[in-house]
Amino acid sequence: MVGDVIVHTDIITERFCCDIDKCHGRCCQEGDAGAPVTIDEIAQIEQELDTLWPHLTATAQSAIDRQGVAYPDPEGEMVTTIVAGRDCAYRGCNGCLLRTKPLSCHLYPIREKQFTSGLTGITYHRWDICRDAVLKGQAQDIPLYVFQREPLIRRFGKQWYTQLETTVDQMKKQGLI
Ligand code: SF4
Repeated sequence: MVGDVIVHTDIITERFCCDIDKCHGRCCQEGDAGAPVTIDEIAQIEQELDTLWPHLTATAQSAIDRQGVAYPDPEGEMVTTIVAGRDCAYRGCNGCLLRTKPLSCHLYPIREKQFTSGLTGITYHRWDICRDAVLKGQAQDIPLYVFQREPLIRRFGKQWYTQLETTVDQMKKQGLI
C-alpha cells in the first residue's frame, strides 16, 4: 500500500521498457475492447473531433458516427471506440492522434482497478505483444514503476510517487526485493 493506493509488487519488481521499433505500438491495435476513458476524457475527445475527423480512417469515422467517441464495455466501463473489433479509432500512421492521450493508455501496461471498498489498486497487465519491452527492460534494468514515472505522477501526483520511491527503498533495505 502506498498512500491510499494498493500497488501490486510486480510494478516494483518487474522490468519493462517499451520497444516501439519492435512492437510498433500494437497495444493500440490489438485487443477486444477500447481503452478505458473517463467522462472528462470523453468530453475532450468530443471537443477535438472536428480537428481529428479528416485524419481518421473511413471505418473509424463510420464507427464513431454509429456509436459515438466511446462505448460501454461488457462490464459497463466506458472505453474508446474501436474498429473491426480491435483497432483504436484514434490511431494514425504515426501513433495516437489525440492531443492528450487518455490516462489509461499513458499508464499501460499498468492498469488501475477500483475496489468496492472505495480503494484504488494498480497492477501490471502482462501481454505477449510486449515481450520485447520485457527484454529491453531487463537488459537496461528498468523497473516498471521507473519506466512509467511520468504517467504515475500524472495520475497520483509527485508527492505520491516520492512515497512510492521511499517504499521501494525500505523494501530493499529489508531484503524484501
Ligand atoms: S505497451 Fe506493449 S505494445 Fe504498447 S508500446 Fe509498449 S511494448 Fe509496445
